[in-house]
Amino acid sequence: MDELGDGIRRITLPLPTRPGHVHTYLLPGDEGWTLVDTGIGLPDAKETWAAELERAGGRVATVFVTHFHPDHVGAAADLHELTGAPVVQGVLDYAQCELVWGNPAWSDRLVDWFHLHGAPDDVTAELVGQGSVYRPFIRYQRDPVLVDDGERVDGWELVAAAGHADGQLCLLRDGVLVAADHLLGRITPTVGLWPASRPDPLGDYLAALDRTIELDPRIALPGHGDPIGDPAGRARELKAHHAERLEATIAALSPEPQSGYELSLALFGADLPAAGRRFAIAETLSHLERLVHENAAARNEDGETVTYTAA
Ligand SMILES: [Zn+2]
Repeated sequence: MDELGDGIRRITLPLPTRPGHVHTYLLPGDEGWTLVDTGIGLPDAKETWAAELERAGGRVATVFVTHFHPDHVGAAADLHELTGAPVVQGVLDYAQCELVWGNPAWSDRLVDWFHLHGAPDDVTAELVGQGSVYRPFIRYQRDPVLVDDGERVDGWELVAAAGHADGQLCLLRDGVLVAADHLLGRITPTVGLWPASRPDPLGDYLAALDRTIELDPRIALPGHGDPIGDPAGRARELKAHHAERLEATIAALSPEPQSGYELSLALFGADLPAAGRRFAIAETLSHLERLVHENAAARNEDGETVTYTAA
């Protein structure tokens, strides 16, 4: 556990896959701690949390989930059992949480979706199999308290930050932005198009970065890596990164129709492990859809495969 100033504590939990750790935060409030994010629900998650909370002392007033990705929502039900505190989650984010983790048909939907975007059968099987690795470690809390952008939780203002996850919510107070995976220091947050996601996640993300620049917090506390001392500056860097990636995507397009899968090979190389390939396809598609929205690329659908061409 680390003391971060402003009375905020950080608890870092292990993650079996990259980047190897996830940060959770204890924010001080009149009623007790607001605990932000829960880590993945490893078999010993409850014991780990019991020990950490004993060390922190005091009661947990609220368990807040920023977004439904496994390393953030995984132990939410454990923490509810352990503390009795209500779990609070964004309304759109919880709907997607149910759709993905509460839905046995989700894997089939992913298979169809990878096929639609041109991935061959063997690649699809590997990608969907890899994506199911986390499934047993997700114990989200059913029927949480639902909140949305602009509302307050324990004195913190909720700031929507779509892009990395459609319904992701950050918390802001006195210039401190608890940023989840909206802003990361050295890693570029993934922004991908997935089945049932909003139509233009990269457009959402660029708008959310603009809002961060406007809000100009003095520090951002991310889900992975070190605190960010110049959040607006980091937001500008991330905008520049995506501008470059959009240029590279335009350069990869031609009059010949190519699927998202094919274009991901051109943009990210053919030599990726399954986990990397999943994100490469989703990232390629989010950039393609941004270009379609800007009329800089064309999407073609024949009912079987979606392809893209230069506009
Ligand atoms: Zn995430």
